[in-house]
Amino acid sequence: MDRQVDVCVIGGGPAGAALAIRLAQLGHSVLVVERSSSPRPRTVESLVPSVLPLLDALQVRTAIERHGLLRPAAVTVRWADPAIERRDGGWLVGRQAFDAVLLGAAEAAGADVMRPARILSIARRDDGWHLEAVHDSRRVSIASRVVADASGRCGWLPGRKRRTGPRLVALEGAWRSGRPQGMWVEAGERHWYWGASLGDGFTQATVFLDPADLVPARRHEGARAVYERLIACSELLSPCLQGTLAGSVRTRDATARADDHPATDDAIKVGDAAFALDPLSSHGVQSALGSALHAAAVVHTILLRPADRALAIDFYRGCQRDAVDFHGRAARRAYAEVARSRDDPFWRRRAGSVDPETPPPERHEAVAFDGWLQVSPDVRIEPGPVLCADFIVAGSHVRRAGRPTAFVGGVALAPLVAAAAGPIRAETLLRSWSPVVDGPRAGRLLQWLLRHQILQAVDCSGGGRR
Ligand SMILES: Cc1cc2nc3c(=O)[nH]c(=O)nc-3n(C[C@H](O)[C@H](O)[C@H](O)COP(=O)(O)OP(=O)(O)OC[C@H]3O[C@@H](n4cnc5c(N)ncnc54)[C@H](O)[C@@H]3O)c2cc1C
Repeated sequence: MDRQVDVCVIGGGPAGAALAIRLAQLGHSVLVVERSSSPRPRTVESLVPSVLPLLDALQVRTAIERHGLLRPAAVTVRWADPAIERRDGGWLVGRQAFDAVLLGAAEAAGADVMRPARILSIARRDDGWHLEAVHDSRRVSIASRVVADASGRCGWLPGRKRRTGPRLVALEGAWRSGRPQGMWVEAGERHWYWGASLGDGFTQATVFLDPADLVPARRHEGARAVYERLIACSELLSPCLQGTLAGSVRTRDATARADDHPATDDAIKVGDAAFALDPLSSHGVQSALGSALHAAAVVHTILLRPADRALAIDFYRGCQRDAVDFHGRAARRAYAEVARSRDDPFWRRRAGSVDPETPPPERHEAVAFDGWLQVSPDVRIEPGPVLCADFIVAGSHVRRAGRPTAFVGGVALAPLVAAAAGPIRAETLLRSWSPVVDGPRAGRLLQWLLRHQILQAVDCSGGGRR
């Protein structure tokens, strides 16, 4: 056996690199097998602000900022309303450089990276996993206790991926054009557009459409002609046509899919290999990093506390189910905005039946120290596996609007929230928390609970007070 490791990670994209970083930090031996010699062709993607805490948790934010990779981008939007609107966006990143920094961080944390390398075979025996790979024209045998599939949408390990949204395909091209740094999102007739430029002389322009519309058109005209025809219909991206296409037009599957069994006793799927989102949300990278952090705790538990294996697998499945629900609802709401004014099956099917209970904007009134509070009626405190100090353990979480939260800032939430099961004065509640959280932190935590509508202010001019 040439290599013997605790964990072999197949794929060195954001999910694979993040998993390798975290597992190496936790003291495990990790080998990442990445098939390509460079991460990916010229690709720009947008990152949402909630990616920052994940980059912090992975201790890679400084390196990413040092390389100037997070480019703030204002978004020009023409969505449900034909009027053009400017919004603050998150960031744009060149994925080639972003992926390279993450994989470099995995190596710096102690993981080995084999690249370019191709897996030839994989077999599970009584003593663990046995993989055969080719690297530098040499065959390499790898023995591994756990295998992690982080190979992206196609996935490497067997398993059925269920569609969690209507089929969607992306036609993607990079144009030589001198547009300034920015991002463009637009609803078309029965398709939508996403474009971005890092201000480096190239603009990436993507059309998202139903494959049922693409296939016959492509047969008649060819993919490039279909793509250019649709780009010409875009108010925001048609200026690209004044430049020239750099390279070919790529066709990529963009359908939302999920594997309902993303973890077993010694194998785990991470990032897009476990569940891939509709790109409309721009949450793909964030969710890949998030799933890798959860997967690291699951693998850590499987390796060091095998008795808690089932709990860990249950935790991972639950997290994924919640994420799929959450992002599915968000995508349906965004499609529904257009479906209201455009009576076309493309928009109607994607809007589905939008939950009547759209979450209200996150707004709350300041609560006076002597004001009254209570747990919001739609909040549940449930027993279940939780992530605690790098392991998955039995615990409780607080669930609201389908989202469970066990800890905030390292503080277990359930007992603190349970203290407000009935109306209670804010000052009494804060005092009851004092053995667990000190004054200023308790105040911030209270604000957080109000902002996320887990607690609400109540009028207690009547009875039932504490
Ligand atoms: C058209 C489109 C636009 C998108 N836009 C955005 C966006 O703007 N913002 C955003 O956040 N997300 C976006 N996404 C989603 C985002 O790209 C993915 O969610 C993210 O890349 C997932 O990361 P990953 O590491 O799971 O997979 P990937 O990034 O796909 O990485 C998988 C890695 O595994 C390697 N690999 C594959 N097979 C093997 C094998 N057999 N052996 C070894 N290595 C292998 C690949 O070379 C690759 O490096 C978009 C997706 C699509 C389809």
